[in-house]
Amino acid sequence: MIPMTYESTAMDTGRAWVDVDLGAVVRNGEALMRHAGVPIVPMVKADAYGVGAAPCARALERLDPVGFGVATVREVEELRAAGISRRIFVFSPLLPLDFPAARAAGAIPTLGDPAAIAAWVNSGGGAWHLAIDSGMQRAGIRWDQIGLVADLVRAHPPEGAFTHFHSAERNDGSWEQQESRFHEALAALPAMPAMLHAQNSAGLVRRGRSPWSFARPGVFLYGVGSGDGAQLLPEPVVHVRARILELHDLQDGDTVSYTASWRAVGRRRVATLGLGYADGYRRSLGNKGPVLINGRRCCVAGVVTMDMTMADVTDIPCGPGDVATLIGRDGGELITVEQVAEVADFMSPYEVLTGLRQRLPRRYHERVS
Ligand SMILES: *Cc1c(COP(=O)(O)O)cnc(C)c1O
Repeated sequence: MIPMTYESTAMDTGRAWVDVDLGAVVRNGEALMRHAGVPIVPMVKADAYGVGAAPCARALERLDPVGFGVATVREVEELRAAGISRRIFVFSPLLPLDFPAARAAGAIPTLGDPAAIAAWVNSGGGAWHLAIDSGMQRAGIRWDQIGLVADLVRAHPPEGAFTHFHSAERNDGSWEQQESRFHEALAALPAMPAMLHAQNSAGLVRRGRSPWSFARPGVFLYGVGSGDGAQLLPEPVVHVRARILELHDLQDGDTVSYTASWRAVGRRRVATLGLGYADGYRRSLGNKGPVLINGRRCCVAGVVTMDMTMADVTDIPCGPGDVATLIGRDGGELITVEQVAEVADFMSPYEVLTGLRQRLPRRYHERVS
């Protein structure tokens, strides 16, 4: 059933919104911790992948996380303003010009560039983690160049050290290679840092117990799984809803939407939904996107427009004001983020989630069933 708590705030839900299941976020985190046997640092960067950083972080406090992970100092400040007092790691390299704000917000930078490390420890110091690049060439000191930071690490030991896997969702041998490079780098350090971490969501659900101090899951918390080979499936978290604004009865040969790419064969009935690509419902879902209405499955008809999307509801009794689900659950039916990503010309599910725009109000619930 679609939760009805929104009825009290009709303004937010006149046309479209996102129901967020915070209970599922917490249960997904719990399942990962049980599976891996280690605590987590939930990644809440990019507004928790578009789901809402402050509400997600507050809910995840129940799991007593080691801290939270973000990408920018501004994101740290937002979590502090939301009352989060735990460690907050910034997992994109900070430049020295960011250090004063980072320090004021109590951020823990993750650094790998020798000059940046020197600037951090010489401008007031504070906890930091050493980023070790084991093959992604994105951030961190190369695993075979630890000598370049050895003196800094000896004089100002980092609280932790970590790496990041570039293909955790594949069995291509790269995991083993990166893992052995990470070990090689750690062995070259003057002393072993207290906290070691490496695994993202895919790296957790495709392996058993974790050998590291904690894990850094992101997308799994928000209901996106890791495909074949995953030992754990997440509960859905994000439910994208849009109301039916109008119904149109079509005659044989009538066309729908821009470019007239959908043509009625016989008499059809089409519903106009109050959501479009400016809400983050991708244009590539035109003529393909799955839609749930009153617990039944139908399909987008014609191209997605900026503010409205049509669906063929010929076989579904429905009326204006009824709620369509574009992602998530309605009755016994479920459309996953991964399914939508695949239909949208094999987009990344991460992009589908982070692409949901702020025009869709987020409605937070303890349970969406
Ligand atoms: C985003 C991120 C993660 C989380 O990745 P998911 O695939 O969403 O689980 C973990 N570690 C780092 C360094 C990241 O940037």
